[in-house]
Amino acid sequence: MQILHPFAGSVQQYNEQLSNPDAHRPTHCPQCQTKRPLSAHGFYTRTLIDTAFDGVIRVRRYLCHACQRTVSLLPEFILPYLRSSLMVIALFLVARLLRGQTIEAAARSAPPPMPYQRGQFWIRRFRAQTQSLCAALAALTPPTPAPDFVHRALTMLESTGWIAAHRFLFAGVRCHLLGWPRGLTPDGRRAAFSSAGAPA
Ligand SMILES: [Zn+2]
Repeated sequence: MQILHPFAGSVQQYNEQLSNPDAHRPTHCPQCQTKRPLSAHGFYTRTLIDTAFDGVIRVRRYLCHACQRTVSLLPEFILPYLRSSLMVIALFLVARLLRGQTIEAAARSAPPPMPYQRGQFWIRRFRAQTQSLCAALAALTPPTPAPDFVHRALTMLESTGWIAAHRFLFAGVRCHLLGWPRGLTPDGRRAAFSSAGAPA
């Protein structure tokens, strides 16, 4: 199971605090609810593309001895199963869908420059989500008048802040900002076999 790391800060600050397993050790198991601190259980690595970072980061894992399942602590700037950071995706979606830039210009302006096909993929997934996003985000910010759900969702995300919205959606309602990939249940576990850490 993936939960969000309580840590807030930059990629570099995240990497610096990662060596201390006690800093953010979960005090109970989010899966079986056993009230015993979990044991540090190594890391998995994944790629991350952020505005000023392109490389591999580690994600800390903990083990619950009661249910023998692991919990990964994902930093808040990551959306599960996506390589690009939340801020890169947000910059692109705002440039293309809210400011009306062409897809090529939006792909060039969202640092680092990327193939526009990647942006098309985000747009497709985001569009499919906007109605449920608007409903969920209404708990954080009043719905704004807008011509359609895409504009309304973007305006609400901009007013809440993308990271704050992601924290709320992921922790509160197990909702993925761009929708869970096919084959995953809404809580992010593979439907047929146990969850893998590798991003798509
Ligand atoms: Zn457990």
